[in-house]
Amino acid sequence: MAHPKHIVILTGAGISAESGIDTFRDAGGLWENHPIEQVATPQAFAADPVLVHRFYNLRRAALKKVEPNAAHLALGRLQDEFDGEVTLITQNVDDLHERGGFRNVIHMHGELNSALCSACGHRWEYREDLSITSICPACQTAGGPRPDIVWFGEMPYAMNSIERAVKACDLFVSIGTSGAVYPAAGFVQLAHAYRAKTLELNLEPSQGSAMFAESRLGPATQLVPDWVAEMLD
Ligand code: NAD
Repeated sequence: MAHPKHIVILTGAGISAESGIDTFRDAGGLWENHPIEQVATPQAFAADPVLVHRFYNLRRAALKKVEPNAAHLALGRLQDEFDGEVTLITQNVDDLHERGGFRNVIHMHGELNSALCSACGHRWEYREDLSITSICPACQTAGGPRPDIVWFGEMPYAMNSIERAVKACDLFVSIGTSGAVYPAAGFVQLAHAYRAKTLELNLEPSQGSAMFAESRLGPATQLVPDWVAEMLD
């Protein structure tokens, strides 16, 4: 592959799987044994905020016990050493890209280490447990804070800057994502329409594989360092 000038990378749960964080397609539509609609919709939070807080508190606490893997580290190295621009968009809510050395990650589906006030919209870095009595530091509303996660039916973050980057890149790479969750699943078509090369790195053929000019199959901890080495060659 000729060397590009601007690479846009989209990552999904598959890049963190070998660090020990479950994906949910692989677990039959369950995320850590919960059906998605029980923990990842605004309706679920309204119906049972105690359960939803507990679920995300456990996920947040679990982050402290996992480490970035060779794929996260390779992307950090790519940002440092690549002679061009690298934009990283992730659907993941973990912090393994940051701990793998990547700066300015775009978390389109939010972050476990962040809280959002449903009363005033304030967002802030938050690494402890949330509860139905947590108080927003900006507007002081008790029970306002919720996990800063984009739930199904909600608008992902940073869509304007993502769209600009995808249209401007000359290589679009998707890593460890099922191609089942929109709008992220549509980025490959946008990149292709704007004449970027497209490459998929995934454990197995994904729902979106046919859209990519090239698909490489295997574990992210092997495929990603190999591809980064090619880009830095
Ligand atoms: P997904 O669970 O739908 O799909 C994961 C994909 O990764 C699958 O195609 C699978 O074949 C592939 N995969 C599994 N192990 C792999 C490996 N070792 N190497 C390479 N590929 C591997 O994940 P998604 O597409 O990211 O969409 C799921 C949604 O779930 C996202 O919105 C995300 O916010 C959320 N989620 C996030 C996390 C996280 O933050 N780590 C974990 C689970 C779910």
